[in-house]
Amino acid sequence: MALVQPHAQAAPKRITILGSTGSVGCSTIDLIERNPDAFVVEALTAFDNVDLLAQQAIKLNARFAVVADPGKFEALQSALAGTETVAGAGAGALIEAAERPSDLVMAAIVGAAGLAPTLAAVRRGSAIALANKECLVCAGDLMIKEVRARGAVLLPVDSEHNAIFQVFDFERSDSVEKIILTASGGPFLSASRDVMAQATPAQAVNHPNWSMGAKISVDSATMMNKGLELIEAFHLFPVPEDRIDIVIHPQSVVHSLVSYVDGSVLAQMGTPDMRTPISFALAWPERIATPAERLDLAAMGNLTFESPDPGRFPALGLARAALQSGGAGPTILNAANEMAVTAFLNTKIGFLDITRVVEETLEQVPNRPLARLEDVHEADREARATAGAQIDAILQ
Ligand code: NAD
Ligand code: MG
Repeated sequence: MALVQPHAQAAPKRITILGSTGSVGCSTIDLIERNPDAFVVEALTAFDNVDLLAQQAIKLNARFAVVADPGKFEALQSALAGTETVAGAGAGALIEAAERPSDLVMAAIVGAAGLAPTLAAVRRGSAIALANKECLVCAGDLMIKEVRARGAVLLPVDSEHNAIFQVFDFERSDSVEKIILTASGGPFLSASRDVMAQATPAQAVNHPNWSMGAKISVDSATMMNKGLELIEAFHLFPVPEDRIDIVIHPQSVVHSLVSYVDGSVLAQMGTPDMRTPISFALAWPERIATPAERLDLAAMGNLTFESPDPGRFPALGLARAALQSGGAGPTILNAANEMAVTAFLNTKIGFLDITRVVEETLEQVPNRPLARLEDVHEADREARATAGAQIDAILQ
């Protein structure tokens, strides 16, 4: 009989957070503050929110704090004056933050902007808590190749992928029949196309279950988020695209499921609080306590499931087709979507225009193979230029 030994008190984990001022970044910091003996902070990065970044760096005694916007360097330097935190700015400093020695890098930048620093962390063989799904969408094959070559570890933070990670039998992946991703359906789950046509950014970011950054909230409303997650799941788990299903589950309690050849279906459940999957990645392979509200199934009463409606949510079909097309398809999809979501949030285009811009861009930009990282950048640039031209045409 195996005896379970109590664990010796491990040394604190050294952590870097890319995107510390965002929704996932702030939840990560909340957990670190609740477990002060378990973690020390190496570096924190933000786009331009110097005040919050400096406050976090001082509170957690970070060694390095980076603002991506080079114009904010002096402001950061003066906010950190008299502290032990070194200030940095710009794209090179972002990469330096990822390259500094740490046990774990939380990749929580939004969009393809997070690819370069996340790859830098992969290249030094770090463990990565991966929230920044767009990295895998736009450069999945290249990233996974690097992960394998460098012995890095990807710990999924996205709640669905974290759920799958927890119930997937990696040693017997042949016995897995399907992955089933759950989707809340977002704020427009039962809205007509006419209602969606008039949707404002405020309505689109008002997610029924999760409190998240603006971009992912809009992605949830179009359901492009689930399309991106389909591509993310394809890269994270050894299961082909045609065995990854999507089911609507408006309560966001069953975070995703894996079905096996014997008919068993394993799910991970919990209340919708990102601190649960974030804590899993932070503490892996241990677990730490979180203040997430506990699941009370009897009080919930009903958990419901339904099939997604491909007519009202064309983003799902676009993402699946992009994944099937391979090569630069997902890169083009992601870049066009980032452009269209930004234009929608700036009230330049309507809600339904988002998927139209993505569809048109996928039709116009040639899908080339992605042999090198430069091919990813080229496809990304071309897709952004094409999507930008369409957004301008809608504006006129
Ligand atoms: P957010 O917008 O709240 O935060 C994004 C962070 O990235 C901020 O710190 C911001 O300063 C930084 N950033 C933005 N643009 C940047 C740039 N160009 N260069 C450098 N830094 C930049 O986003 P979020 O909701 O925290 O999401 C972060 C990532 O996690 C996204 O990829 C999202 O899809 C994924 N995710 C988020 C949630 C959630 O609950 N928020 C859940 C699952 C997955
Ligand atoms: Mg998710």
